[in-house]
Amino acid sequence: MAIEKEQLSASESLRKTRTFGKVRCHNPSCMERIQPAPGANHAKCPTCGMEYRLFWVNSTLPRIRGPVWDVNRKIAQEKMARLEAAASKKNGKKGGK
Ligand SMILES: [Zn+2]
Repeated sequence: MAIEKEQLSASESLRKTRTFGKVRCHNPSCMERIQPAPGANHAKCPTCGMEYRLFWVNSTLPRIRGPVWDVNRKIAQEKMARLEAAASKKNGKKGGK
């Protein structure tokens, strides 16, 4: 009886740690797990905002086919613009505290 119960809880916890239906963000500084809507062609990472094109190995197993370049380029450009703005602001304030 006791063994049976243990086995059940073991398989239960195994099921919880499985990541079926999820893909890992390809952004190396993010690596967040994304859970796309079933059958979706695209998935957006909720953490970094990157978008990926998907294909489905089967009905529950998505894979990233590749990034959506338009979206990701825009994010990269905005990031660069923010960095440049921050850098120029820093230079402008030189010496002042
Ligand atoms: Zn991400």
